[in-house]
Amino acid sequence: MAEVLRQKVGWFGPRVELHVAPEGLTLVGRAGRDSVEFAPIGDVADVTVGAGGRRADLTISFGPARPAWSLVGLPVASAEWAAAVIGEEKSALDRRSNPDYAQPVALDGLQARCAATLESRDGRAAVDLADFLLIQAVLHGASDVHFDPYSEDVAVRYRLDGLLRDVARLDSGIKQQLTSRLKVLSRLATFKKSVAQEGRAAVRVGERTVDFRFSAIPTIHGEKIGVRVFDPATSIFSIADLGMSQDMLASFERLLMQPQGTILLTGPAGSGKTTTMYAALGYLRENRKNLSSIATVEDPVEYDLRVVNQTQVNTASGLTFASALRTVLRQDPEVIMIGEIRDRETADIAVQAGLTGHMIVSTVHARSAAGVLLRLLDLGVEPYLLASSVSAVLSQRLVRKVCRSCTGSGCGKCSNTGYSGRTGIFQLLPISDEMRDLVLKRKSLAELDEQVERERVPSLLDDGSEKANAGVTSSEELTRVLG
Ligand SMILES: [Zn+2]
Repeated sequence: MAEVLRQKVGWFGPRVELHVAPEGLTLVGRAGRDSVEFAPIGDVADVTVGAGGRRADLTISFGPARPAWSLVGLPVASAEWAAAVIGEEKSALDRRSNPDYAQPVALDGLQARCAATLESRDGRAAVDLADFLLIQAVLHGASDVHFDPYSEDVAVRYRLDGLLRDVARLDSGIKQQLTSRLKVLSRLATFKKSVAQEGRAAVRVGERTVDFRFSAIPTIHGEKIGVRVFDPATSIFSIADLGMSQDMLASFERLLMQPQGTILLTGPAGSGKTTTMYAALGYLRENRKNLSSIATVEDPVEYDLRVVNQTQVNTASGLTFASALRTVLRQDPEVIMIGEIRDRETADIAVQAGLTGHMIVSTVHARSAAGVLLRLLDLGVEPYLLASSVSAVLSQRLVRKVCRSCTGSGCGKCSNTGYSGRTGIFQLLPISDEMRDLVLKRKSLAELDEQVERERVPSLLDDGSEKANAGVTSSEELTRVLG
């Protein structure tokens, strides 16, 4: 993850390049002078920008024992930006060595804490607020943080258990600095304010490294910053923890252990499909004997699985799902996870691979399990290939779990919502011979749905009702999610 941050701040004249990473600064001399100097961020004593018209000098000093670095005649914006990055890395480092740094604050106490920071009129208030709100988001298990600018103030929202919740309102006076801090943290160009940008940052929280993905979108009241949180501590990588019933889990395991086939997941955005795919890969890794290789083709790569070959799709540079998948197949992996099938080329390659000794796990956008089959036919996949390749379709949603501390009446632990954490509800449709036959005959969605009913495959509602009856979730929550 540190790789992400190891980016150069910019070219400083023809001769020198300065790299800033959390662990330190590297000054690289070019053009014949092959000197490379390294200094840990903690050694930096001061950073100053001496402006003189359109050019500026950047001076980084390290205290009396070590000569300062001077970069002379830089563009003013570059010098200021470099100084801000170094200054903020240094202050973040100082703050993180404080034992109080990662202490959780109750959700309804965040507003007061932010107000106190603002009132202190400390020059670093924006830096402090941004870091504080991101760390607290991690500690509360939020999946997203939104900084939404309005004319009067900035709304800070956390997505908790799938729902957005206002956690603080910050005076608009801090808007500009707050936005700058978030952009510096994610290595976005601070001076670009009228274009959408995406960036990322890896931040230590306690013992772990949490990955943040940032997006900045211009609005009439300033830039709206969205942050997705990827916390390794909250990611589920075991299929036993997804929320499947014992029977369904046993069937799912059997399906995964088949030597080849295609298992397709469906559900709207935020329904937990990615988690299920990762959990399936984790299961295969542990349970398949002599498993030689697992590969993934993703957009974006969401979690670093370490022992797996992960390829990130990059449409801008021509690396589409289909072309990435073709490349991956040349290495002949046994198991391939494809982030999403949304075009015919990818669908064709995936379905073929599922027939030729590979286990394919992927997602398809559709309204129901049977709808997945129809969607692939609509994309142009040959019915006979589809019918023989797909082994099962898993449809899923996420529902909030009733808080165990108060059994739904609301308490401090669940921020008075009555819910805490989420679990999946599923419909697992193994493809029967009868269903294959209907696919071969290109039957309509209604006919496929009828077959699902004939086979008495429990629906999402059936699975959800069972969980509501068991007190895991509530019927109101089921209605909210299933409509
Ligand atoms: Zn509670």
